[in-house]
Amino acid sequence: MTSELDILDDHFHDHCGVFGVFGHPEASKVAYLGIYALQHRGQESAGIITSDGSELHAHKAMGQVAEIFQPAVLASLPGSSAIGHTRYSTAGDKALMNAQPFVIDCNKGKIAVAHNGNLTNAGDWRRKLEHKGSIFQTNSDTEVIVHLLAKSQARNLSGALGDAFNQVEGAYSLVILTADELFAARDPRGFRPLVLGKLPGVNGSDAWVVASETCAFDLLNARYVREIEPGEMVRISRSGVESIHFAPPKPRQQCIFEHVYFSRPDSVIFGRSVNDSREMLGRLLAREHPVAADIIVPVPDSGVPAAVGFAMEAGIPFRMGLIRNHYIGRTFIEPSQAIRDFGVKLKLNPVRELMAGKRVVLVDDSIVRGTTSRKIVRMVREAGAREVHVRISCPPTISPCYYGVDTPTREELIASSHSPEEICKFLGADSLGYVSMSALKQAVADTAGDFCSSCYTGVYPTDLVQLEVRETSSNGKEGAPAPEKAPVTVIRES
Ligand code: AMP
Repeated sequence: MTSELDILDDHFHDHCGVFGVFGHPEASKVAYLGIYALQHRGQESAGIITSDGSELHAHKAMGQVAEIFQPAVLASLPGSSAIGHTRYSTAGDKALMNAQPFVIDCNKGKIAVAHNGNLTNAGDWRRKLEHKGSIFQTNSDTEVIVHLLAKSQARNLSGALGDAFNQVEGAYSLVILTADELFAARDPRGFRPLVLGKLPGVNGSDAWVVASETCAFDLLNARYVREIEPGEMVRISRSGVESIHFAPPKPRQQCIFEHVYFSRPDSVIFGRSVNDSREMLGRLLAREHPVAADIIVPVPDSGVPAAVGFAMEAGIPFRMGLIRNHYIGRTFIEPSQAIRDFGVKLKLNPVRELMAGKRVVLVDDSIVRGTTSRKIVRMVREAGAREVHVRISCPPTISPCYYGVDTPTREELIASSHSPEEICKFLGADSLGYVSMSALKQAVADTAGDFCSSCYTGVYPTDLVQLEVRETSSNGKEGAPAPEKAPVTVIRES
């Protein structure tokens, strides 16, 4: 049977980081550092486009930022403005064709686009545009924006971008580069983060920077100025910074998972420290699911801040009982005589001296399929732990994300069809506790209902038109049975 994700894959931009700089003599190097700091948001491909004032220069490749952008490559990217992108996509198309930023040459000139997020009506638009003769170069939803932009009758690019944005639905934090402008735009619900900063110039003239996360500014010594507002497009040119509100604001739908897992803890996301949110999640988790134990052990790296909060709240020692190898390349040679839990062992190894005879609380940020967590529990037991209690710093993940976080299909999400008790059994743990939805809201300081939590509720804030479309695509799936519409609730906004 065709799964939702098979249908959606061709349009997915899962896990992305975007960056832009304007007015810096070494723009390509600044963009390189910017996306280097955003590497955690995507490790499959990366790209940088620069402008020398009249021409755009591009380099994109599969792989990680530091291996792609060697000195000679950066030297071939001249100019004082640049955008960069890091991308990750598990299932489906990893091809270089879909690596970003895209560069197009249209009636509005040469334009480069980098996108974080996922459009929920891209399939619909693509079908309509292809009927009218548009020829798509990629499988990416971002390209829909480009075609809509080219069709706009607006007199300038800001107007054309506004026209395009007002026809698409879903999540987009975008950086767009032309010969002499840098745009940064965020969808009217503000699903994904995007921040504006200032980089002090050597000769007194400051450069402007935009990034998915503030940790990119820290590396550059740039000053955080503000968020790009939902429904706002900022145009940066030699005449300065101009703010254009292309759409009336809609109820905010900031991705709560950015605070749970996705962003770096040293970033400020949606105006709040990610580390503060995660430590608070750990504290609330300890209150909601207390347990008599000897040590609190994080699953590194994502579980660390929550484990710190848990340990502080519970008054139980925090110990680094699992050590992570950070230097895993892309391919491994597996021994032919299979080693049990090989994949997880490459990444994590227990400190036996800490675990032996102990009642251990394992803290992690989330359970997706449950397969990794199960292996970790087994590993900790084999290291001598007497009891293993799993504590998860988010509610059960029951529903896929359609707004730019890579999650598997509903069927693959263990919590979509299993109770915490059943999951506990599957993991082989002595107990399992998830933080509640109200604690999660409290931890991210959401008093106004400004967050999207579809992955925990199955309630989606936009229509999911894309689910109905792939029959007319050119991906060889013609004639496939129309997929069933996902059992989702859609809140319609008037
Ligand atoms: P599993 O037990 O197989 O469900 O794996 C759980 C692990 O996956 C946790 O350590 C999470 O930090 C990690 N994780 C959660 N969400 C994602 C995601 N969207 N992409 C990759 N890893 C994730």
